[in-house]
Amino acid sequence: MTDPSDRLKELQEAGLRAISAAASESDLLDAKGKYFGKKGAVSEILKTVAYLPAEEKKRIGGAANEARGALEAAFNARLDEIRERERLAREGSGLLDVTLPGRSASVGHRHPVSRTLSDIVSVFQRLGFSVRLGPEIEKDYYNFEALNIPKDHPARDMQDTFYMDWPEMDLVLRTHTSPIQIRTMEGMRPPVRVIAPGAVYRCDSDVTHSPMFHQVEGFAVDRSVTMADLKGLLTEFCGMMFGPGLPLRFRPSFFPFTEPSAEVDIRCVICRGAGCRVCKDSGWLEILGCGMIDPSVFGFVGYDPEEYTGFAFGMGVERIAMLRHGINDIRLFFENDIRFISQF
Ligand SMILES: [Zn+2]
Repeated sequence: MTDPSDRLKELQEAGLRAISAAASESDLLDAKGKYFGKKGAVSEILKTVAYLPAEEKKRIGGAANEARGALEAAFNARLDEIRERERLAREGSGLLDVTLPGRSASVGHRHPVSRTLSDIVSVFQRLGFSVRLGPEIEKDYYNFEALNIPKDHPARDMQDTFYMDWPEMDLVLRTHTSPIQIRTMEGMRPPVRVIAPGAVYRCDSDVTHSPMFHQVEGFAVDRSVTMADLKGLLTEFCGMMFGPGLPLRFRPSFFPFTEPSAEVDIRCVICRGAGCRVCKDSGWLEILGCGMIDPSVFGFVGYDPEEYTGFAFGMGVERIAMLRHGINDIRLFFENDIRFISQF
């Protein structure tokens, strides 16, 4: 029978070889289990030591402890090596390349529609208008009825409306920001000078229409407000938005809540009136609708049409942003493609 101490030497050598050959933590744990773990070969020998005579107990026990100590030390050293190697692999070469260009944080900016909207608002604020907001889910009464558009009026067809699915509540997604006109006048006596910016909704989608877009509605009511005031204000506004001295023209039009009504064109900012694809060779670009507030609208808010007159106007913010930046498809604004957005 071989002496247990010889057997221990063999086990120690084989164990050390297995440890130094281990390429990963799991290889290393396998070696530990086989040689000096709880059920490893060295531990099995140690268990038998108790049954040996005293002299042998000391000799074999000492040798077994020595073998286990050597294996443990080798195991810990190898474990450190393997972990360090894995850390370096995770962090690249572990060397810092100081010649690499730095990574700069990218700074965002406001969306072109938000910028145009706030530019429009700030122009009117400088002209003495204050800002009012209203709900986007609006009562049929404010969106249509009180703006002189009764239930059977054909003008309702001009605006493809999203109706809310609770017929008894008579709610719509507002199709324009004009309801704010009514809400403001209900709670305020003239003089009133207000602009109402915000999102509006229509069931319509193509290169120049989006189901959600933004409008700025403006109106002023006071004693002896005239069409000349309206024309002067809008001329000033267009000059401030697109550059001074820009020619404007007013074309007769129809809106249920204004009388007379007009559409305002500016001279094409692309071709300066010579005719191009954007202005369809007319030299003019339609920019907003306006008119004198219909006296019947005053009837809904308790203003005396014999005492007060007023004007109102409304414009599409995306339309103005498209003209300012030469963008030909409204849908680009809402696709959130950073390659497009970052150009403005
Ligand atoms: Zn043009």
